[in-house]
Amino acid sequence: MPIAMIVHGGAWDIPDEQVEAHLHGCRVALEAGLRILRAGGTALEACEAAVRLMEDDPIFDAGTGSVLTSAGTVELDAALMDGRSLRYGAVANLKRIRNPITLARHVLEGPATFIGGEGAEHFAASCGMPFCDNAELIVEREVALWQAWKASRRQDEESTLEAQPDPAVVHGHDTVGAIALDKSGNLVAANSTGGTPFKLPGRIGDTPMVGCGLYADATIGGAVCTGWGEGIVRVALARRAIEQLERGVPPQTAAESAMHTLARYVDGGRGGCIILTPSGQIGLAWNTRRMAYAYATEDTPLIAGV
Ligand code: ASP
Repeated sequence: MPIAMIVHGGAWDIPDEQVEAHLHGCRVALEAGLRILRAGGTALEACEAAVRLMEDDPIFDAGTGSVLTSAGTVELDAALMDGRSLRYGAVANLKRIRNPITLARHVLEGPATFIGGEGAEHFAASCGMPFCDNAELIVEREVALWQAWKASRRQDEESTLEAQPDPAVVHGHDTVGAIALDKSGNLVAANSTGGTPFKLPGRIGDTPMVGCGLYADATIGGAVCTGWGEGIVRVALARRAIEQLERGVPPQTAAESAMHTLARYVDGGRGGCIILTPSGQIGLAWNTRRMAYAYATEDTPLIAGV
C-alpha cells in the first residue's frame, strides 16, 4: 500500500520573521515520520515521532515553547486516534510532561481514553515517563508576551477577559498535528498543544477532544484541526470534515467546507484543517492569514508551505 503523511504547525497570523522556523519545523517532523513509514513502521509510530519533534521545537505551541496560561504556567493537551481500531488516547492539563503525545499513546494502548491533570501525571509515572519542571517548558518569547499582556490589562477587566479570550487579539495558535498512512493501510491522526494564549488554568480546547481536534477512520480518512478551540468544539469540526469524506466529497473540498462551517456557525471561528484519505489524497485549508504545513504522498515529493 502507498504511504503518505501530512503535518501542520498551527494556523494564525504567523509573523514574517517566524515563517522559516515554522517551515523548518514542519519539514523536519514530516521527514522523521516518512522515514518510519518507508521502513515499514506504523502510522502510530510515525505520528508520535513527528509530533514529539514539534513538541521539542520551541517555535510551536506544543511541549517546550507553548503559550502561557493567565497564571503564567504551561498546560499541555494531546491526543492520538488509530483509524483501524478506532482507539483513541488523550491527555490534558499536563504541567510536567515534556512530550504529551507519548503519554497519549500510553493512554491509547491502555484501559482509558482520556486522562487529565494529576491523574494523568500519576499514570505517566506508572508508564515510566520522565518528568520535567514546568519552568523548563517556558521560553523567553512567551514570557515577554505574557508580561505585555498582563501589563496591558486593567485590573477590573481581568475576570471577563479570562473567561472569554478574544480569538482576534490572542497572539497565536501554533498547535501541531499529523496524519499518517502506513504500508498496512492504517491511518492515524495526532495533535498536541499548549492551548490558547493566556487561557484560564484548567481550560481544555478542541485539541484532545475526539471529533473536534481530530478523528481517524482507516476506511474513510483522518482529519486534524487547529485554531480557536472554543469555536471548533461547538461544531465538532474534525467529525464534520470526515462526514464530508463519507459522502464522497474530495478531501480538498472537505477541508474547505469544514472551514466554511466553522466561520458560518461560530462568530470569530478561525483556524485550519488537514485531511488524509486511505488512498493517500491530501486536503488542507485555513481561514487565518497563514497555516504552516508539510506533506508527501506516493506521487508528491515533500511540499512545505506557510
Ligand atoms: N486549538 C487549540 C486550542 O484551542 C489551539 C490551536 O490550535 O492552536 O487549544
